[in-house]
Amino acid sequence: MNNHIPSVRIGMIQSAETIAFKCQGPFRAFDLHGNEVFKGKENKEYVASIQDSVPSEIAYRVRLAIADDLEVAEELQREFKDNRQKTDLWYPGLSLDLPTGKIDNHEYWIVTEPFESLDAAQEFANQYEPVGQAFVVKEILKRSTGSINIDGQTAEQGLVIAPVHPDHVIYLADVMVGIEFHWQHTRTQTIPGRLEINFNNLGKLAGINELDVETYLISVNSSEMTSENPLELLKAQTIAARSTILATMGKHHYDELYHLCSDDHCQCYHGIEHISDASRQAAQDTEGENLLYEGRVCDSRYAKICGGVMEDYGAVWDDRHIPYLVPGVDGNAEIDYPLDTEEKVTDYIDNKPDVYCNTIKYAISSKLPYNTTELFRWTVSYSRKELEEIIQEKLGDEMGELIDLIPGERGPSGRLVYMDVVGVHKTVRVGKELQIRRMLSKSHLYSACFYIARDLDDSGSIKTFHLHGAGWGHGVGLCQVGATVMAQLGFDYKEILRHYYKNSSLVKLY
Ligand SMILES: [Zn+2]
Ligand SMILES: [Zn+2]
Repeated sequence: MNNHIPSVRIGMIQSAETIAFKCQGPFRAFDLHGNEVFKGKENKEYVASIQDSVPSEIAYRVRLAIADDLEVAEELQREFKDNRQKTDLWYPGLSLDLPTGKIDNHEYWIVTEPFESLDAAQEFANQYEPVGQAFVVKEILKRSTGSINIDGQTAEQGLVIAPVHPDHVIYLADVMVGIEFHWQHTRTQTIPGRLEINFNNLGKLAGINELDVETYLISVNSSEMTSENPLELLKAQTIAARSTILATMGKHHYDELYHLCSDDHCQCYHGIEHISDASRQAAQDTEGENLLYEGRVCDSRYAKICGGVMEDYGAVWDDRHIPYLVPGVDGNAEIDYPLDTEEKVTDYIDNKPDVYCNTIKYAISSKLPYNTTELFRWTVSYSRKELEEIIQEKLGDEMGELIDLIPGERGPSGRLVYMDVVGVHKTVRVGKELQIRRMLSKSHLYSACFYIARDLDDSGSIKTFHLHGAGWGHGVGLCQVGATVMAQLGFDYKEILRHYYKNSSLVKLY
């Protein structure tokens, strides 16, 4: 490992009353100014609790658009002004000094003026057209303050736990994993580097692991990387993950004191207990290699199964054109994309084209966590009543009885950009893909690429909805199953990355 590796701050515990931990060896506890608070003993459990705290003062605004450069941002601001929408410009992100130069990931956010309350901001964002484009953002007017009680001592504002021996690890108790997903539970996690305990915006405790980005990467990837995976796939995936980290640090959690959370929202990080040799090998072989586009590290998104056509960034997130996240066929089949009509998407789903992620045609190892023959093409059926209950759970019952679902605009991969949910009392427009997937399932529908078939009862009203779909996940960027098959077919990691991230180049940054 070289000493130019950037470090990253991961929010392991995002909100808690107490944080309990043990250290493999002796440690020193510092306050946030670097003054020693106490010396800790090996293998003794310590519990940090809140002595007193004051939550952050927050104003709520709505982010209307994102731009990579100032010129575009100001042009957007002029357009909003013409529509009588007053805006301000934010500049979240960070820059890193690396041996090869400075890497900067700042971007411009065009935000409204502050609203009276969170509800008012949320209401505005919900009503905003085009749907799925506006998001509530927090402006921290005054950051939370507080003091922590630990081992009979008081630490103002926060505490850093640093093992005396750099190889010693910290055992952090009660870390919640799978937040909002059906596998949610808590477990103790083993973390390297340092543990920082400080206050989140609610005035509750946050537990942050600060470690070098390569170790983080090895751990993040270990859950999915075994010796069953071809090494070239692992290398491609490692570079995509590394690039995403450097490209998004400081933006996903712009309002908190960590860069990334440890859950699915960012990338799953469960400590270093289960590091796989395959993951370590892939990281070491590609250390410091990143995808770049015009001097910026690429936010190289990836998902499980695209379904045959990679989706365009703008169809899933904000409306930007990102030149390295553009649609394309995931293989040699001739597919007449964009799949923007109901006929085209129905035909595409029913015909199961010969693409890399076609798990009916190409077998992948049964030991891989995403080995699944049923998610390249799938069907989910609901009785009208069942679906109505799922939707009312999310929207409240003001829409009344569910009458129908009407597909709206589709992205190039066939994923719905929005959909209308028609109720007796009102019609609600839902978008973009993640919101649609949440709306149509107790957890998440596999993807937003589906067409709808309906069984009718004698009176002609809908009895059952059949959603016939393709793929798993948002489909933008690297398709994990497709990339696995490419590697099995003999493509190397550079070819795989070129296929999924067009117009990008591979650069060793440290
Ligand atoms: Zn996150
Ligand atoms: Zn694919």
